[in-house]
Amino acid sequence: MANGKIGVTTENIFPVIKKFLYSDNEIFLRELVSNAVDATRKIQTLHNFGEFKGELGKLEVNVRVDKEAGTITVSDHGIGMDASDIEKYINQIAFSGAEEFLEKYKDTANSIIGHFGLGFYSAFMVAKKVEIRSLSYKDGAEAVEWVCDGSPEYEMHPIDKTERGTDIILYIDDESKEYLEKDRVIGLLKKYCRFLPVPVTCGKKEEWKDGKQVETDEDYVVNSTEPLWTKKPADLTDDDYLRFYHELMPGREDPLFWIHLNVDYPFTLTGILYFPKVKSNLDLQRNRIQLYCNQVYVTDQVEGVVPEFMTIMQGVIDSPDIPLNVSRSYLQSDRQVKKISAYISKKVAEKLDRLFTSDRAGFEKKWDDIRIFIEYGMLTDEKFFESAKKFFLVKDIAGKYFSLEEYKALVESTQTDKDSTLVYLYTTDPTAQYSYIKAAEDKGYSVLVMDGELDEHLMSLLESKNEKLRFVRVDSDIPERLIVKEDKKGVNLSASASDILQGIFSAALPEVKDANFIVAIDDAGETAAPVTVIQNEFMRRMKKMAEQQPGMGFGGSLPDSYQVVVNVGQPVVNKILSDAEGALDAEIKPLLQEIEDLNADITKSREKDAGDAAKAKGQEAQAKVGELRDRQQSIFKDYAGKSPVVRQVIDLALLQSGLLKGKALSDFISRSYSLL
Ligand code: ADP
Repeated sequence: MANGKIGVTTENIFPVIKKFLYSDNEIFLRELVSNAVDATRKIQTLHNFGEFKGELGKLEVNVRVDKEAGTITVSDHGIGMDASDIEKYINQIAFSGAEEFLEKYKDTANSIIGHFGLGFYSAFMVAKKVEIRSLSYKDGAEAVEWVCDGSPEYEMHPIDKTERGTDIILYIDDESKEYLEKDRVIGLLKKYCRFLPVPVTCGKKEEWKDGKQVETDEDYVVNSTEPLWTKKPADLTDDDYLRFYHELMPGREDPLFWIHLNVDYPFTLTGILYFPKVKSNLDLQRNRIQLYCNQVYVTDQVEGVVPEFMTIMQGVIDSPDIPLNVSRSYLQSDRQVKKISAYISKKVAEKLDRLFTSDRAGFEKKWDDIRIFIEYGMLTDEKFFESAKKFFLVKDIAGKYFSLEEYKALVESTQTDKDSTLVYLYTTDPTAQYSYIKAAEDKGYSVLVMDGELDEHLMSLLESKNEKLRFVRVDSDIPERLIVKEDKKGVNLSASASDILQGIFSAALPEVKDANFIVAIDDAGETAAPVTVIQNEFMRRMKKMAEQQPGMGFGGSLPDSYQVVVNVGQPVVNKILSDAEGALDAEIKPLLQEIEDLNADITKSREKDAGDAAKAKGQEAQAKVGELRDRQQSIFKDYAGKSPVVRQVIDLALLQSGLLKGKALSDFISRSYSLL
């Protein structure tokens, strides 16, 4: 019998392990089962190389829960250990500065374990006493038992054990009784050991018999030893991939497509990533990629390893090259990990490109589902943008898809403005913006549907990448001005006519919550609408940005500003104007003349050499102009109040753009009845 002290430099490592690693203590089972699997694979290897000539026997790892005895036993028929192995591998956990290290990495239990070969010792997170009973494969080996009660002292002595391999027996402590429930243990095995390469059994298979679950004679195997990602893609069918997907993600719709990853240089990585049907909420779908290290489950937190925009994908990645045993911030800055991330991004882009070129119809069918993901990728990953711009699709009002290149070719001749800027017209809501779309189509323009959550950002990105491209929403200007082909002459209107028109339309503007209206006069021709309500593209984007970034300093929500464009070229407006001129000219013209004279005084008073008298006169004129303007306003207001047609044409325009609401709408309806 041998007694000794475990070779850690820190006096007592176990309380430290318990204290710091407690939250993650379930991983003890992963560690012990992985060790057992490793030992099993080693004997297989030795056998294959002819270094072990004995019987291999049934190479399984068995996990046994004995609630009465309060133990969990992990048994294998692997290479086993003799006393000197135990001395070397178990007793000498030689490392320095353990406490300092634990202090530094206390949130990442996973890191410490593994990293310092503490795998086996994680047993002490849940056990008050641990026994190792082992028989080495070596000829003439003597079976040994090692016992340790959680203090650095251990005891080791020879035992009778005839079967090769190792039993690790954990005497579960009082705080960890949950691990004596077989269901809990099976749950953990399913989580961590589901794809281990050696069969792992726990208890017996159950079956439904005579109205209850009963145990059969057959061992219950928790894992599948040859998961799909370890096989050659050429040997697999679509059905295989779908079946595996549903095994990983029970209860989900079929994925849209998948990518089988397989590299061995400059790093080793295998895996299968599935592209799920994505609804709009990105976050709901996170953490669906499982990271494995040689088929041992490690984590589903893959940030850093997979490009951020791809974390909505689902599936598995297996790589012995990802440094799992370090903190997450380290993981993100690790060069190897960056390479892996870039590789995955490239593979996904290649797959999409292949789908696009080889099966355009299928690609279009999937497009609406994958668009948000591709846009997210383009927005966040420069390299991905470069590949994706080839297969990125836009959709027009009729539901036809175009690549960016195809679309450019389609509209270049009709939608290039006088500054050679290509103007892509879009709608965010084909129903609400129907009349604007129709007007644009009547002019021979194509209109894209851009109603996705990220479309706005993507359009800005495309514009920033291409100086000569602008996206303009169909309702952001009157059709004539959406794409300005040539410099237009100003509107041909006398000063008084322009004042009157501006005045009466301004006076007739309704009050709509959270909206400001400004009247503008233009000549859009006879066939265009008499009044059109538009919202400037730039202003709308600014407002949206302000809303999305509270820090932009606009405080609260900005009202929407709209232009009410009055079309003097249109007969109805013409009639309104000539009626108004007839009724108001006599009053307005002298007022305007007076204002003009006063303005001359004001200008004089501002000249450099203006004397005190001129300055005083200027001030007086200023006040007078104010008064006259007020008088003018009230004349317009009076007139507008008596002219339901002005209100009516404005309201019709508002109605068309969905802005006529509440009291304004009900006023409109009663006015319409009275006009009838
Ligand atoms: P690691 O597995 O990271 O090396 P562990 O503390 O888990 O660290 O194990 C230390 C060593 O003990 C292993 O490398 C292995 O040589 C030996 N060992 C552990 N468990 C077994 C087992 N079931 N059978 C044979 N050897 C084992």
